[in-house]
Amino acid sequence: MTDDKTLYMVVPCYNEEEVLHETAKRLKEKYTSLRQRGLISEESRVVFVNDGSKDKTWSIIQELHAADPKFFSGINLARNSGHQNAVLAGLMTVKDICSMAITMDADLQDDINAIDAMIEKYHEGNQVVYGVRSARKTDTFFKKFTAEGFYKFMKVMGADVVYNHADFRLMSRRVLQELANYREVNLFLRGLVPLIGFQSCNVYYERAERFAGESKYPLKKMLAFAINGITSFSTKPLKLITSVGFIMSIISVIAIIWALVVKIAGHSELGWSSTMCAIWFIGGLQLLALGIIGEYVGKIYAEVKQRPRFIVADFINEEK
Ligand code: UDP
Ligand code: MG
Repeated sequence: MTDDKTLYMVVPCYNEEEVLHETAKRLKEKYTSLRQRGLISEESRVVFVNDGSKDKTWSIIQELHAADPKFFSGINLARNSGHQNAVLAGLMTVKDICSMAITMDADLQDDINAIDAMIEKYHEGNQVVYGVRSARKTDTFFKKFTAEGFYKFMKVMGADVVYNHADFRLMSRRVLQELANYREVNLFLRGLVPLIGFQSCNVYYERAERFAGESKYPLKKMLAFAINGITSFSTKPLKLITSVGFIMSIISVIAIIWALVVKIAGHSELGWSSTMCAIWFIGGLQLLALGIIGEYVGKIYAEVKQRPRFIVADFINEEK
């Protein structure tokens, strides 16, 4: 790899048979124009990562590659490993054959016209270019509310992520080499990439609606993703437990003094409801605290096992 114009685009696909043909068509158009403008080399490829799909996704990828080996490549994972791991699998597979890589979802929700600007920023010397949503006109109120709440909550909890940036980003080969040294199993790329550093900038775009198929990120998965993001990047929740525990202790000292005063004054009949409240409240708090600690212990458990984060079964690619 000698030039600095070889772009590998990594597209994770999980049950995306409905969208793949259209996505491939549009990406091919985009690549053709980028090549004509001299922004990327002829060796540039689009790599679809099949994340253990149950539908025809992999056979479609194979067909695309067979018909257009100079545009499309494919990676077949041994099983479903989740979006983040699929993206990482793609990036780690291409890190030595590309000069830059862009990650993008298969459903074309990220505006492919932002790619031009990303590559220009890269040629200006940026090692990381974040795609940032400027508006959420097409999202439902619920999605917008939960998603924006997610970024704000992450920030409060001490995980520094780029606001309204998902996983649409460009990374240079240099950054990918460094990313390879981060070995965590609980992968949260949005938090990880800013930690790597290097010169970076944002490119703004409007996020479109998924044009076919349905979201693979229901609320339950989104919540799990948010909790993973926070607990992988911040120990603030643990410190919060300490603070709350400290405040509770002070309150309980006051309560004890109050109880004694009442007793001495001779009105000690009162109290069933306040006792019950205290028991429920402290009990709830303790369980919550244990739960939070449990999250972290669970993380350590997963990390110490150091299992592979993905297994590449096939890589179909024609470099030249
Ligand atoms: N995806 C994946 N593995 C999974 C779930 C999703 O590779 O286990 C891919 C999916 O094919 C898509 C991207 O991750 O390209 C984002 O998923 P989706 O569009 O469903 O999420 P949303 O945009 O609704 O948050
Ligand atoms: Mg999507």
